[in-house]
Amino acid sequence: MPDCVFCKIAAGEIPCRQAYEDDSVLAFYDIHPQAPVHILIIPKAHIACGAAEVTEENSALVGRCFEAAARLAKELGVTGGFRIVTNNGPGAGQTVSHLHFHLLAGRELGLTMG
Ligand code: 5GP
Ligand code: ZN
Repeated sequence: MPDCVFCKIAAGEIPCRQAYEDDSVLAFYDIHPQAPVHILIIPKAHIACGAAEVTEENSALVGRCFEAAARLAKELGVTGGFRIVTNNGPGAGQTVSHLHFHLLAGRELGLTMG
């Protein structure tokens, strides 16, 4: 297994507050939430780096992550809007090199994204 915090969470070696799981996707609450709802959605498979490494071979997992996001938004009753963010590279604030999507909701998210 890669020396990767999200792989360890997916394997159950590091605990998390789980929000959703299926055969290929895991969602769990961010340890440093930036909104009242801040969930990380990851493919269980290690996709190193992030959005820059999405290919024809692994892009179905991106769709599965977005399916999980839609399901979570419904289950959590997120009615005021939500945002899905993925950071790619240190210049964008990426700290964990395993493809993941932040699901943010529960506060006014504003119009600026930069
Ligand atoms: P990035 O900065 O790479 O886009 O997002 C990584 C996110 O992972 C950060 O928001 C950070 O708070 C979260 N994170 C890092 N380590 C852990 C951990 O061990 N558990 C949980 N639940 N979140 C983590
Ligand atoms: Zn990983």
